[in-house]
Amino acid sequence: MKLSVIGCGYLGAVHAAAMASIGHDVVGIDVDENKIASLSKGEAPFFEPGLPEILSEGIASGRLRFTTDMSQAKGAKVHFVGVGTPQVKDGYAADMTYVNAAIDGLLPHLSEGDIVAGKSTVPVGTAARLAERVTPTGATLVWNPEFLREGFAMKDTIDPDRLVAGVPAGEAGEAATETLRAVYHPAIEKGTPFLVTDYATAELVKVAANAFLATKISFINAMAEIAEVTGADVTQLADAIGHDARIGRRFLGAGVGFGGGCLPKDIRAFSARAEELGRGESVAFLREVDAINLRRRDRAAQLVIDAFEGNVFEKKITVLGAAFKPHSDDIRDSPALDVAVRLRGLGADVTVTDPEAIANARRVHPQLRYVQDRDEALTDADAVVVVTEWDEYRRQLAPEHASTLARGRLIIDGRNCLDPAAWRAAGWTYYGMGRP
Ligand code: NAD
Repeated sequence: MKLSVIGCGYLGAVHAAAMASIGHDVVGIDVDENKIASLSKGEAPFFEPGLPEILSEGIASGRLRFTTDMSQAKGAKVHFVGVGTPQVKDGYAADMTYVNAAIDGLLPHLSEGDIVAGKSTVPVGTAARLAERVTPTGATLVWNPEFLREGFAMKDTIDPDRLVAGVPAGEAGEAATETLRAVYHPAIEKGTPFLVTDYATAELVKVAANAFLATKISFINAMAEIAEVTGADVTQLADAIGHDARIGRRFLGAGVGFGGGCLPKDIRAFSARAEELGRGESVAFLREVDAINLRRRDRAAQLVIDAFEGNVFEKKITVLGAAFKPHSDDIRDSPALDVAVRLRGLGADVTVTDPEAIANARRVHPQLRYVQDRDEALTDADAVVVVTEWDEYRRQLAPEHASTLARGRLIIDGRNCLDPAAWRAAGWTYYGMGRP
């Protein structure tokens, strides 16, 4: 099927490449000329395992191309819209400028029977509003939220755990549902649940899923705060409650909390939208979820400050990690960089390393020093802070090896991803999050 994908960022570039890999004929469209230039060469403009290979295959097959020219969307049967919905500058709501502009740009190129499939994460009510503009062209608007995880985005797009489509009632909705089934037929044939809902439900599924995940993380981080004043160990607590199948162990890793381009802004936008709908109290707990999450960044920085008896001035501190999570170079709202910036602000001599995210981090926080090589970054450190649990730090950094590089013997494990016994046995003072 001929498809267009408007917006070729983390979501859109992956979606375009994945759709070509399952046999569709795809044009990816973005306003960012640099992004389009690198995608056209088969180069991924960001780090995502597996994406470069699938991009190159798609381009070589002739089924995948990229352009800045919106008129190239003409002739596609389905137009996926995956542009950004960041937090507005002066509040909590989602900035809908890019979605509105993408729809405006697309309208003149739509034909009778086309489908516009929104994938961006949007405030509930957006699809109904946009449908009023799309429907007069003879095209049908559906909302098809995206659940991919950065770092696993190729797998999650080609073989998702569920597909959700919010469609209008009536024949147009039924026809659009059949078309989407055809687009996603390899996954559906494998048994992927395909849930067809109304617009509002589809929009809410996405924000509800993210709200739940954020709440689960902040729940265990709240327990970490209590553990810290009682001497309990939150990792043992998580193991013990996680054995309860109703609770489950996943997303119960206490640490510096969540970040990235989705969870923080999505829970804020959900709160803002609920306020607009007069139901702010229903998700008022998300403000607390956000507050707990941000407090953990303070806590990680405070552990370092306390270890130096309140004064980190000119202390050489190596921060292991810049990305908001491993297997990604995404530094949007990264807890790792927040911790690094706070320590730098107190006069510490901070060095940041990360396997993939240094270029992005340097653009946003040029005041920090960046070193690509992990061991070089560790050399002469007075303290080491782990804030992104890359395997390079979690599994591949032996404390004995770190001892040959660092000057001090202080390790702060902001992700509870190290073995405290091993580090202590090697002579290090170890501090975790919510652990004695
Ligand atoms: P991103 O910032 O990486 O990409 C957005 C892209 O849209 C950019 O390349 C930008 O140039 C482009 N764009 C902006 N205006 C445009 C226009 N008028 N026409 C064409 N292109 C335009 O953002 P992202 O992480 O890909 O997120 C996109 C959406 O998907 C957001 O709503 C986000 O919440 C949602 N989402 C993201 C993820 C993820 O893991 N990144 C997962 C699920 C959902």
